[in-house]
Amino acid sequence: MELSRRTLLTGGTLLALSGVFGSLRHARAATDADFDAWLVELRAEAAAKGISQKTLDAALTGLQPIQKVIDLDRNQPEFTQTFWRYMEPRITDTRIADGQVRLAANQKVLDQVEGDHGVPAESLMAFWGLETNYGTYMGDYEVIAALATLAWDERRSAFFRTELLNALTIVEQGHITAAGMIGSWAGAMGHFQFLPSTFLNNALDYDNDGKKDIWNNTSDAFASAAHFLENSGWVPGLPWGYEVVMPADFPWEQSGADNRQPVARWQALGVRRPDGGDLTLQEKSGAILLPAGWQGPAFVVLQNFYTILRWNNSHLYAISVGHLSDRIAGKGPFKAVKPVEEERLSREEIKTMQEYLNKLGFDSGTPDGKVGPKTRAALRAFQAKNGFPADAYPTRAIIEAMRVQAG
Ligand code: CA
Repeated sequence: MELSRRTLLTGGTLLALSGVFGSLRHARAATDADFDAWLVELRAEAAAKGISQKTLDAALTGLQPIQKVIDLDRNQPEFTQTFWRYMEPRITDTRIADGQVRLAANQKVLDQVEGDHGVPAESLMAFWGLETNYGTYMGDYEVIAALATLAWDERRSAFFRTELLNALTIVEQGHITAAGMIGSWAGAMGHFQFLPSTFLNNALDYDNDGKKDIWNNTSDAFASAAHFLENSGWVPGLPWGYEVVMPADFPWEQSGADNRQPVARWQALGVRRPDGGDLTLQEKSGAILLPAGWQGPAFVVLQNFYTILRWNNSHLYAISVGHLSDRIAGKGPFKAVKPVEEERLSREEIKTMQEYLNKLGFDSGTPDGKVGPKTRAALRAFQAKNGFPADAYPTRAIIEAMRVQAG
């Protein structure tokens, strides 16, 4: 089936159908003429923003959209992530050991970077390990072509058009050639997978050779990552958080990243370290995080957890960075015990839950199959009103209770 952009923008029937059959909207097949015309216009905008003809020739001549990039952008995971399924492949013994080796090998520059930007070596190793397995997999797409594909495609065109113009600016500034600008299918570049906007706002030339080279120069890459974290509110000397155990009578509706309180308050409510000891850093502000619900692992998260969220707005990602940094520093594994089986909900089930919540008067926003802050708040309110521990963690039992009520 071939659908042009114009057909979609003017065809009322198709637009209406696209709401029902999301994939139909995405079925538009590319035509070379369509892309070439788009590129002429993009090129004019870039030139007006001060990108030279030389850079534009080098970066855009002969450019073609990459169908594989569009396919990857369409590919939504069928199931929601769960705590152990997320952590186990990412925090492996090999990755921990590799992080320790890399830390030792780069100790001198990492100490300098910590002195300049306040981010410790083990935290940088954790980001490095999770983003590119310590620089061993930085992606193999030409970033200009990948971003042009996503900017031309309609799904997230405004966002990627800005990133494409930023990428051209980076080439114009001479930090990397267009051909050397390699990264992920979504335009994340170098050792720490910076988007072009992240590069422009944070990248540093740490070895003073005139180039901010986050692709080939680890000194530049480490300092740039630390600078990004510093700019995102990293507090030197503060851990990201730590594991805790919850008392059975905890007021579960007070859990969640949004409810930051003095840690002393959690201590007063009976939260303890896994060995039964008192909470530390009681004067700091922190929240109780229950990434697998009230029966799963529990954490007190402090300011640097929220700083990590500004790098990647995923609670599981932030915990994985924090935990890997702890492990590289020699601390032990999670104390919580992995259940025999983790209940794993599909996106369809989450979407159904969101529809029930909306129907029952708990506003979860437009059902999209993703558990974001609004869905969590609505779910928590439903749980509190219906006698469930209000941990904002979706389960089939809760969705079934909603189904019964929603009729
Ligand atoms: Ca440099």
